[in-house]
Amino acid sequence: MEKYVSQLIEDILDAQRIEDEALEEEKEFDIEDHFAEVERYISGEGEEQLGDILGFKKIQFPPVERLNDEQMQSISEAFVQCLFSWNITAEIPENIPISLKYNLLVSTLEKKVFMQISGFIHLEFCHYDVETCPFGLEFCQCKDFENDFDDMDTIELKDGELPF
Ligand SMILES: [Zn+2]
Repeated sequence: MEKYVSQLIEDILDAQRIEDEALEEEKEFDIEDHFAEVERYISGEGEEQLGDILGFKKIQFPPVERLNDEQMQSISEAFVQCLFSWNITAEIPENIPISLKYNLLVSTLEKKVFMQISGFIHLEFCHYDVETCPFGLEFCQCKDFENDFDDMDTIELKDGELPF
């Protein structure tokens, strides 16, 4: 498995967007391109599966049962680095178990994204519903959000006063 993992990591790093090409594209990007992009976005035609963009299929990633923590960590790091080169960030809390992080990252290959020439794409997993949150109750960030919300309810407001 170790050999497969090293090869996989190498392939992931090879799938990074080449910076010069990205910069070149960005430089040549003008107002017409901008509106073409907006149109593509509105029509929904511009969406591509992330795996197709990167050239990976989920099946190429071994199941967590076959990997040790260190291997999951290395693959995840390479994956995050690769996403970043494409201006994509996966919004995953730092402290979640590595197997969960690994699975969430691999699941992004089946997400549809709209690639833009400029700007960042944030892949969100938590949809502010603790019950269905993929991070689980312990690591869900929306939980904090809900707590803040509860706090807000308990603040007594004078007429016309805003809570912030
Ligand atoms: Zn959540």
